[in-house]
Amino acid sequence: RDGLSKTRQQINTTAGSLGADVRDVLTNRLDTIEDLEYALIAADVGRAATEEVLEDVRRSPGKKLQEALMDALTLQLEPDARRAEFRKLGFAPEVSRSKVAPRGHVVMVIGVNGVGKTTTIAKLGDYYIRQGKSVMFAAGDTFRAAAGTQLGVWGERLGIPVVQGADGGDPAAVAFDAATARAARGTDLLFVDTAGRLHNKHNLMEELKKVRRVIEKADPGEPGEVWLVLDAVTGQNGLQQAKKFHESTPLTGVIVTKLDGTAKGGILVPIVRELGVPIKFIGVGEQPGDLQPFDSQEFVRALFD
Ligand code: GDP
Repeated sequence: RDGLSKTRQQINTTAGSLGADVRDVLTNRLDTIEDLEYALIAADVGRAATEEVLEDVRRSPGKKLQEALMDALTLQLEPDARRAEFRKLGFAPEVSRSKVAPRGHVVMVIGVNGVGKTTTIAKLGDYYIRQGKSVMFAAGDTFRAAAGTQLGVWGERLGIPVVQGADGGDPAAVAFDAATARAARGTDLLFVDTAGRLHNKHNLMEELKKVRRVIEKADPGEPGEVWLVLDAVTGQNGLQQAKKFHESTPLTGVIVTKLDGTAKGGILVPIVRELGVPIKFIGVGEQPGDLQPFDSQEFVRALFD
């Protein structure tokens, strides 16, 4: 029960041939390659990446189809430089598990309303407390009336202090107070919730830049991370949004939520390819435990379990 069953079903439409040698598939079962192409596109892997995956599979006649497919997909979930390296080696070497450790102490969390931003912040708090870190939250989405209350409830449940602002108040002021308090207390990690919707997109982007500047002023060198929360169900549209955010407030990581609700988990591939930003975590449910540190190999393995 890892929350990926829908995508797993989608990818496994070719299950009958997965145990065959690639050489055999290429000579006797060419329709399998077509089925595979269809399955990958339907899972939102994207055309360019799907072509590359099939190319990598064809180049591995000695492997079992499943193994070739898993290696090729893992490759697609790695940033450019690693992709080149992996291809040269002909296999995917172990990936460092420590990449989810945030740089610095302040993580700004951005994303449009409804993607699961507030819930994800709660999950992150829970995750890092379990890692032995001290955590604070800043309820910086003062534009959505319920957001502050929602984060306050999570904070109480998880034992995490929450810096609140007034409803409709200045989000930058909340971020400034929280970043100042974090530095004074020596808390390991501060997650700053931000507005997900303003009167228009321009205002939202300006607001996020301002929050970023204010954090830097309160605590030079911070925020060490800017993570974008994306809803997997929104697919390509979400990706276009992500590009806009990335242009105005450069991202250092992405968290993809609601993978439990879609068969299109392949969207992770275009996210990595087109943004060039690593995926840090994936969300697979509504409870605090439903957040997994992202590991390309584990993710791909889970799709074929
Ligand atoms: P925000 O507006 O971006 O802050 O969104 P919320 O945190 O309020 O979440 C919106 C809805 O999505 C809530 O009902 C959450 O429980 C739900 N949600 C968040 N993450 C996930 C996830 O990974 N899977 C599922 N199924 N639901 C999620």
